[in-house]
Amino acid sequence: MSERVIGIDLGTTNSCVAIVENGTPVVIPNRGGYKTTPSMVAIAENGKRLVGHIAKRQAITNAEHTVYAAKRLIGRKWNSPPVRQAMESVGYQISEGPHDDVRIVLRNQTYSIPEISAYVLQEMKLIAEEHLGGTVDKAVVTVPAYFNDGQRQATKDAGRIAGLDVIRIINEPTAAALAYGFGKNIERKVAVFDLGGGTFDISILEIGNGVFEVISTAGDTFLGGEDFDKRIIDWLVFGFAKEHKIDLRRDKMALQRLKDVAEKAKCELSSAKEAEINLPFIISQGGEALHLQRTLTRDKLEELTADLIERCVNICRKTLAEADIEKAGIEDVILVGGMTRMPKIQQSVAQFFGMEPCKGVHPDEVVALGASIQGSALTETDSEMLLLDVTPHSLGIMIVGGYFHRLIIQNTTVPTQASHIFTTVKDNQTSVKILVLQGESDRAEENELLGEFILTGLRRAPKSEVEVEVTFEISADGIVSVSAKDMETGLKQAITVTATSGLTEDEIRRMVEESKDYLLDQKASEEFEKYKQNAEKLIDEIESLFPRVEAAIAGSDFGQDAVKKARSVIDRARQGIQGRDQQAVGDSNEALTRTLNMFKGVVAKTRVG
Ligand code: AMP
Repeated sequence: MSERVIGIDLGTTNSCVAIVENGTPVVIPNRGGYKTTPSMVAIAENGKRLVGHIAKRQAITNAEHTVYAAKRLIGRKWNSPPVRQAMESVGYQISEGPHDDVRIVLRNQTYSIPEISAYVLQEMKLIAEEHLGGTVDKAVVTVPAYFNDGQRQATKDAGRIAGLDVIRIINEPTAAALAYGFGKNIERKVAVFDLGGGTFDISILEIGNGVFEVISTAGDTFLGGEDFDKRIIDWLVFGFAKEHKIDLRRDKMALQRLKDVAEKAKCELSSAKEAEINLPFIISQGGEALHLQRTLTRDKLEELTADLIERCVNICRKTLAEADIEKAGIEDVILVGGMTRMPKIQQSVAQFFGMEPCKGVHPDEVVALGASIQGSALTETDSEMLLLDVTPHSLGIMIVGGYFHRLIIQNTTVPTQASHIFTTVKDNQTSVKILVLQGESDRAEENELLGEFILTGLRRAPKSEVEVEVTFEISADGIVSVSAKDMETGLKQAITVTATSGLTEDEIRRMVEESKDYLLDQKASEEFEKYKQNAEKLIDEIESLFPRVEAAIAGSDFGQDAVKKARSVIDRARQGIQGRDQQAVGDSNEALTRTLNMFKGVVAKTRVG
């Protein structure tokens, strides 16, 4: 059982878990029977951690301590412009340094984003374990194809913190294509258009004889359903400000309510032409309660979001052009992600590709299903499936003049490796600083810095004489490692770019331990609750029988003793409950059951008598 591998789609808005059972990939429903679980984490007033639907249900009243769309922040720096922009419309607070990565403050405690994502992953793990009736410790987790190294590394860290061995990270559109092609004997070139809650990806794949080869991939990790919601929120806020001169954004609870209705209206408009937005008592002014009421039409929504849809189409156009792929050569278009339910998006995709998108896949489930297929293929010895993915970004180092020298270009199939020999640029130069970057700009500073290291101990010599070989490797997860070798001494100064998630190894270890403790704690408390509920039920039943038992035994010495004993059993149980003493409550359950049976016996006897 523990060898079972689950596939997890860790989404911006919702997450989904699947497994291959008897050769068929299936989505595992959560306790409520839903196939997807909100990727939301909250800390309640009593300090309890809430994940999924339960976190979503309390989001309005606990907006400051409820995190949603954490995926938009994973592996990012807190002071980067996209993060700043994303934070404008959320109720929770981010901590500004001393760390580079984004950290969130909930009830005075600081959490890293991999920790928040880990809670969601842990929930998905639990859903699978409850369904399968055993532990699951291996997973394939999906990420947007356009995630960079830092974001992938941070997702892997989240898996570790959740107690999962993430055996592979795969790209969401690739996973979708796996599910689409699974079990079909097809040879086809397909496009996967994936617009989820936070990110957009487009991938072109060749499928044939069990081989899934990605030819090209592109995207935008800050373009998704959240942006559509934000347009509706802005429209509502603007309208309200015009009428009442009040900025609703200042009120965290109002903002969360706006977010809720905006998303709801957006989803409704995928099937209806108009959506009523009604928020009574949204805010008060001078003691008077104000209400918000508007009608949003589908046309208006399309107008408000036209540029976002255009951005998606432009990325498709660009990726086809860069990869030299003719639109006519694409035989099917697969839609993935909840946002692709919007009719205007479907129309724009159909118009761009010149064909109706494929209807046979479920946009919310297909990614998790694909991840589970890959998980099972990786653990089966006789799997005939081969997945060839690509790196979405070019990889290189900074060279003299601040230029970016590419060693691996984007859309190269992974895993891959590339080496290049560089020389010193100054006389008597004894060390080199190597800046590792990912991106497409020729200017190094415009690309994402993955890490840096210094190679020292080079021989003093005239410039250009000493040679250093730099080797880059990208694993099948898309994760990068780099090394540099002094060609004269052969000394490889063991250097690997790590910890790009922003967390140090020590921090991750501590979080892994803490999350284990938490699980143990949770389990213990669940057990206690069970004993407590049982004890309370027994006490109620016994107490309801007291008058009849007392009447039945009036005058008998034996009877008085039994009643006294019953009262002391109840007292002990109540003390145990109050002191949260699991052992004591467990023991009293037995004594209470004996007492109840005895009472029932007395009552039955008097009835017969
Ligand atoms: P995903 O990340 O794939 O779970 O996609 C979630 C995004 O899809 C969220 O922004 C949702 O609001 C959006 N979404 C879900 N259902 C619909 C719908 N019926 N119409 C429009 N958008 C939707």
